[in-house]
Amino acid sequence: MGLKQYIADIVEAVVTTAKGMKITARYGVDAGEEVTQQYPEVRREPSERFRGFLHNDIKVCTSCTMCVKVCPVDCISLEAVRGADKKMVLASYDINIGRCMYCGLCVEICPAKSLKHTRGYEKASVDRGELILHFVHEDASEIKARVAKQVAEAAAKAAEAAKAAEAAKAAAPAPNPAAGNPAPKEDPEKKG
Ligand code: SF4
Ligand code: SF4
Repeated sequence: MGLKQYIADIVEAVVTTAKGMKITARYGVDAGEEVTQQYPEVRREPSERFRGFLHNDIKVCTSCTMCVKVCPVDCISLEAVRGADKKMVLASYDINIGRCMYCGLCVEICPAKSLKHTRGYEKASVDRGELILHFVHEDASEIKARVAKQVAEAAAKAAEAAKAAEAAKAAAPAPNPAAGNPAPKEDPEKKG
């Protein structure tokens, strides 16, 4: 490196330092140029489309599992069982907001529109377990046991009804056209 280059580097360093100090000095003396906020006393309002913590309205959620499948970091987990009316019943629905990267894919794909971003973003914790949001507050095993009982009761009821129908059919009087009790007509479609 020649002497000329050496002096040019020194001049450049002095000029760039002066430029930086000029900006620092401007923010330091002009209150209107303030760029820092006194958080948490002063809070910035998130923008309209801000993606905060997720919330699932479990009354609307259909347990379709599409959000679970689409999540690139596997931070949603759910358990569901089929109820007596054939609809799925959520036993648990958890989101690990410590792992979530707020990409919004799960919200986009949710067919029931039950999953939404809130504007919440404050959840500092020293316990990772606290970063798992539980949307079903009842114990999963209790829900499963209750649903299994309802399914068993519905099946028993259906079996009883089928048995009663069979018995009624067997107790029906034999066909006797003379007594005004004709034999049931044969279904032409069943012929052949
Ligand atoms: S926002 Fe993205 S990372 Fe977070 S739960 Fe949804 S899909 Fe997963
Ligand atoms: S995609 Fe929506 S409806 Fe389906 S399980 Fe997830 S939150 Fe529920």
